[in-house]
Amino acid sequence: LDTSSSVQTPQGKLLVLINPHSGPGKAYTIFKSEIVPMLYEANIPYTAVITDHAGHASELMKEICLSDWYGVVIVSGDGLIFETINGIMQRDDWASSINVPIGCLPGGSGNALCCSINYAAGEPLDPMVLHSTFILAKHHVVPMDLVIVQIPNRSIFSFLSVTWGIMADIDYESERYRNLGEARFTLGAIKRIVSLRTYRGRISFLPVAEYTPNEMMKPKKVLTKVRRFSLRSRSNSKNTLDNGDSESSPRLTTKRSFNTEISENGLADGNQPCGEVGLVGTRKTEDGSGDMTPNAQRVDSDNMIILSETQELRVEKETYSGKKSDFSPVPTPLLPPLNQDVPDNWVQLEGGFVLIAAVYQTHLGSDMLAAPEAHLCDGHINLMMVREGISRNALLNLFLSFGQGGHVHSPYVESVKVLAFRLEPETKTGNIMIDGERFEPCSLQAQILPGLARVMAI
Ligand code: ADP
Ligand code: MG
Repeated sequence: LDTSSSVQTPQGKLLVLINPHSGPGKAYTIFKSEIVPMLYEANIPYTAVITDHAGHASELMKEICLSDWYGVVIVSGDGLIFETINGIMQRDDWASSINVPIGCLPGGSGNALCCSINYAAGEPLDPMVLHSTFILAKHHVVPMDLVIVQIPNRSIFSFLSVTWGIMADIDYESERYRNLGEARFTLGAIKRIVSLRTYRGRISFLPVAEYTPNEMMKPKKVLTKVRRFSLRSRSNSKNTLDNGDSESSPRLTTKRSFNTEISENGLADGNQPCGEVGLVGTRKTEDGSGDMTPNAQRVDSDNMIILSETQELRVEKETYSGKKSDFSPVPTPLLPPLNQDVPDNWVQLEGGFVLIAAVYQTHLGSDMLAAPEAHLCDGHINLMMVREGISRNALLNLFLSFGQGGHVHSPYVESVKVLAFRLEPETKTGNIMIDGERFEPCSLQAQILPGLARVMAI
């Protein structure tokens, strides 16, 4: 690897979390045989931890001293990334901790964030391990939008998608075919299309631009029609971004303090392009041994340590000792309480749907270019809806066109860029999937948090 262009020395090592049970169970083998040699060649020091149980990554993120690490890298699927982000967001000092760069290497059956990062970087998706490790070795760190999803009594931080209807059912029901890798989705899709059903409920949203109902799939009931909105923020954060590149494209600035206001037709000021916010370079371990801790077990490479006891990672005492200097709950200025009506400027559609998907990354899988226009940090949620009445044949064609993103041109798909949405399922059977994790169908609402996280990408 030629990493000579890297300009700065990173502080600390990478913390690599490996899920031995993700996908077909090959994450550790992939790490050892394919990733370690590249990290070694790129002189990237790391400590690897094999997760011991579901929830382990989340526990670590809540407890350890994150400033000891210059990044946290996940070798698994999207599930472990979800755990990692939500673990960090449960810390009192989440506002600073969420700045830790997150990297991902594909080891699961669903590697949507990896695919999206590779796509954004212009790297091929295949072979993905190679290209994802190469991206990591470039040490570019960019902001990534998160979405706060409020369900009754809980807030969840999502980096990928919220799905309901057939897509959620396929995702959940195909988990039992996990050992097929990504082919599980194809098998699941065929099964669900054969036994097609519709899902009744209401979707409400705050569109970024003026909302015009799709002619062919005209909603039976549009309760409100609004013009264009933007989310304006006043921040002295370095990570201000500006994604409006034409007059017709609404802009959004972000901030970490979320001192936010909304303005109709307002284009927020912003003078820094979305993109790289920091560059770090490679670092050689001085003696090639990394920071061996007493009970650590050395395997294979000088640089790799598998910790059997994760207490060996330094625990952040201050997190739980009353130091709450930058503690504040994440404000959600666009969201009313879940039990109150949405504001008048939201659009509401109700009736029967086949699917509703809110997506904020390009890919939901290597063969699912779900939101071709999405960007890691564009400040938008891409809301896609398919209403009842679509034939099985048309739905099959829709799924077949997903791979190349062709579904967005389908007359059956209604796509809207939104800043916030609320989903109220009437049909209580089925599933809601948030980043591939299952939740019982329930009322939920969500708002974009522009550029809140940072990922190793591009
Ligand atoms: P996949 O793409 O195969 O679903 P994920 O990264 O989504 O892979 O991981 C699936 C689940 O495995 C996650 O919900 C995670 O919490 C869980 N998990 C992580 N480590 C372990 C472990 N050691 N044993 C069992 N489950 C684990
Ligand atoms: Mg998963």
